[in-house]
Amino acid sequence: MRVLGIETSCDETGVAIYDSEQGLLGDALYSQIAMHAEYGGVVPELASRDHVRKLLPLVRETLAQARLDKSELDAIAYTAGPGLIGALIVGASTARAMALGLGIPALGVHHMEGHLLAPMLEETPPAFPFVALLVSGGHTQLVRVDGIGRYELLGESLDDAAGEAFDKAGKMLGLDYPGGPEIAKLAQHGDAARFRFPRPMTDRPGLDFSFSGLKTFTLNTANQLRDADGQLDEQSKADIAVAFEDAVVDTLAIKCKRALQQTGLRQLVIAGGVSANARLREKLDEVVRRQRASLFYARPRFCTDNGAMIAYAGCQRLLAGQSSDLKISVFPRWPMDTLPAI
Ligand code: ATP
Ligand code: MG
Ligand code: FE
Repeated sequence: MRVLGIETSCDETGVAIYDSEQGLLGDALYSQIAMHAEYGGVVPELASRDHVRKLLPLVRETLAQARLDKSELDAIAYTAGPGLIGALIVGASTARAMALGLGIPALGVHHMEGHLLAPMLEETPPAFPFVALLVSGGHTQLVRVDGIGRYELLGESLDDAAGEAFDKAGKMLGLDYPGGPEIAKLAQHGDAARFRFPRPMTDRPGLDFSFSGLKTFTLNTANQLRDADGQLDEQSKADIAVAFEDAVVDTLAIKCKRALQQTGLRQLVIAGGVSANARLREKLDEVVRRQRASLFYARPRFCTDNGAMIAYAGCQRLLAGQSSDLKISVFPRWPMDTLPAI
């Protein structure tokens, strides 16, 4: 089955074609980051309008990459939520209209299921069951995964998501949006011994997270070091960046280790934008080695939002006979554990 995947839940327009026999045939992405950067975050109305501008050209580009005509598609998968409502509607209505015109089925896909399954696109994919750490701009969750749609939430953030905390900390340091990759870059020049930030909620049992206190800690540390003009010197910025990154990475690693011990599972999958973080990957490599487990993640391009993960996740569900009706329904909030199993 050959599936066109469309992702428009936030600030990336992603389109890809996944073929259940041949794998990924095309993959195009347009990031709106530069447009939103001057506002320091995503402006929902601008995001929707830009998806309208970019989506059809990207569909054409993906078909050209795959050397396919649209008549050779078997189905269309689109992100139906969670995400920004206007942005989701652009993808959903375009996908629905195309599917209707081509006389093929369409299916609304859960964005986090897309992230979760993205590592399946790599050469050595994980096999069910596994523990998944979903770490993105809007989510921080530990999930036991027994199959597609068989998700048990083990723990989650009670406040900010890890990616959101990176973005806010980046803003405090005067870095460009999104802060995650900027902090990671800056942290390379930081002195990790200068500050030690707290590892929230690691001193008590359980698999939930909280990152808002870490954000306040970052702000206070930065404010104490600002000069009369409110400026931070470059070395202090780097030292705060590395202390912040270490604290987030350590906290995530402690909970991942606990989740592996609690479930007795031997595979750990990390997915979502923050799973692109090199220090997180290194740290978790150590954790799985000590637990005699294995670590799986997607290539960096497929950690953040992309069309390939939606094409892949959609394809698995479409192969199982699922599709959505003609109504254009999107779900800005949509708990992943309510999805049907296949
Ligand atoms: P969600 O998937 O929860 O709806 P989202 O789609 O906005 O949210 P993603 O696209 O998966 O999130 O990831 C974006 C997030 O990943 C941002 O918060 C960004 O700062 C973070 N991120 C990306 N690369 C890195 C990195 N190398 N280190 C840390 N954070 C990173
Ligand atoms: Mg994004
Ligand atoms: Fe995402």
